[in-house]
Amino acid sequence: MNPVDLIIRRAYPYETEKRDRIYLALNENPFPFPEELTKEVFRRLDGDKMRIYYDSPDKELIEKILEYLDTDFLRENNVSIGNGADEIIYVMMIMFDRAVFFPPTYSCYRIFAKAVGAKYLEVPLTKDLKIPEIEVGEGDVVFIPNPNNPTGHIFEKEEIKKILKKGAFVALDEAYYEFHGESYIDLLKEYENLAIIRTFSKAFSLAAQRIGYVISSEKFIDAYNRVRLPFNVSYVSQTFAKVALEHIGIFKERIEYIVSERERMKKALKELNYSISDSRGNFVFIFMDKRERDRLVEQLRWKNIAVRSFREGVRITIGKREENETILKELEVFR
Ligand code: PMP
Repeated sequence: MNPVDLIIRRAYPYETEKRDRIYLALNENPFPFPEELTKEVFRRLDGDKMRIYYDSPDKELIEKILEYLDTDFLRENNVSIGNGADEIIYVMMIMFDRAVFFPPTYSCYRIFAKAVGAKYLEVPLTKDLKIPEIEVGEGDVVFIPNPNNPTGHIFEKEEIKKILKKGAFVALDEAYYEFHGESYIDLLKEYENLAIIRTFSKAFSLAAQRIGYVISSEKFIDAYNRVRLPFNVSYVSQTFAKVALEHIGIFKERIEYIVSERERMKKALKELNYSISDSRGNFVFIFMDKRERDRLVEQLRWKNIAVRSFREGVRITIGKREENETILKELEVFR
């Protein structure tokens, strides 16, 4: 078979969905990027910098990320950036011999592995959502989102350490870190075979700018920088990220709002007798069998509400209070 046909056979097409009235399917931040900060970005943009192949990462952005991380053991050479956290994940699929992940998990792990023709192993989480006992070692990269996507639950530090001790490389994907508030970043002090992945897409309302970052050993960051595309994140995107980091207070308030809405939703869903996970992300997850799930998703679609379907149930992104109220009413009727 010719190579183009082969790719079409093995890789998934990337489809965008129509935006419904209430769109709670992609774990986006319900708040727009603040207008005054966009104005600040535009004030700073300099035509002469547009002309050049702008540094990626730019030193100033790395300094601001380090300040945000607020540790005493990380330096400039421990951080790099990607065109969204997705680019970092994509590149890591190329860097290692085999990718390993534990469904239900972030769907792009499989999508990217297939797209680049990487070897991969999927082993489901145990019934109580723990990392299964597996044989992994050097050459493997194990992807673990924490909080997990789509369930939002937290893995214990010991579970992560167990994999690290086996010698596999761990990509700890903390895309939703800000909605939980606790990181396992201190594991980097002890383990060289670890990278922490973060993003500006969720807590900072910058999904459209495509910017994520990775924190690891100097050696891993050096390798990553050799494999990724040069100038991978634009000058404009990096400026947005810098301005966001200079105004953390605005985002903290919004994170608090989203977290309090999430907790309110979890409580309400429990009262309605739904089986939910203990999500620490900007979303909730309802366990459902396939028939019930399809019936719910269809019913919501009729009301112009989009959520995300998984084999194990339904994931609902936390929206603004009115949106959450609307969906809760629907879930009450569905019950
Ligand atoms: N990791 C996880 C667990 C995610 O859920 C997402 C976004 N849905 C990403 C990474 C990708 O984030 P980005 O927008 O920075 O590419």
